[in-house]
Amino acid sequence: MDLIKKNLEKIKKEVGSNVLVVAVSKTKPIDCIKKAYETGHRDFGENKIQEMTSKFNNLPKDINWHMIGHIQTNKVKYIAPYVSLIHSLDSLKLAKEINKQAIKNKRIIECLIQLRISTEETKFGLNENEVMEIIKLENNFEGIRIIGLMGMASFVDDQKIIDKEFKTLKVLFDKIKCSNKKFEIISMGMTLDYNLAIKNGSNMIRIGSKIFGERNV
Ligand SMILES: *Cc1c(COP(=O)(O)O)cnc(C)c1O
Repeated sequence: MDLIKKNLEKIKKEVGSNVLVVAVSKTKPIDCIKKAYETGHRDFGENKIQEMTSKFNNLPKDINWHMIGHIQTNKVKYIAPYVSLIHSLDSLKLAKEINKQAIKNKRIIECLIQLRISTEETKFGLNENEVMEIIKLENNFEGIRIIGLMGMASFVDDQKIIDKEFKTLKVLFDKIKCSNKKFEIISMGMTLDYNLAIKNGSNMIRIGSKIFGERNV
């Protein structure tokens, strides 16, 4: 358990204060999150609506909950009252539903659009044209504030491939940022590739196993 604290403090020190570490606690029990919380850490990431909501209900209310996984439209209502940042906005349909639920809860929900940077079949996310389409329509969504992009690199050993994918994300981020003052977050990098992500300009990394240990599932 104290290993969690050590791991977290080590990585935060390593990346510095310009990069926000989202501690990805998916599949891990409440007690593990409490250990990280005790160090003062407040940003936690989950990829399943039900699991995140149950953890929200059982933990201090000053935690910033990050939804990092693919969201089914009909489940947005469960997280809309409390979610801090949605990293995985990946369709216009989902944007409409987040907007609707945000307004219902009298909130503005901050979102990142997920760009598909990997060629692997299983990855969710939009292509560049689809991202631009949502950005153009943002003014119609008063309940949403789009503040950046998220991307997941391929699960490969070849660093050149990962590097190229991160660069693709950074180029689009910079392009949008030029004409969009709200654009400030670039969420890229996980346990195996966060160093390369930061080299490529990431300012938000999503770290699971390096903090909480390997997942069993
Ligand atoms: C699980 C997950 C992570 C963290 O993965 P680790 O390799 O354990 O750091 C980051 N981002 C997303 C979207 C995830 O699903």
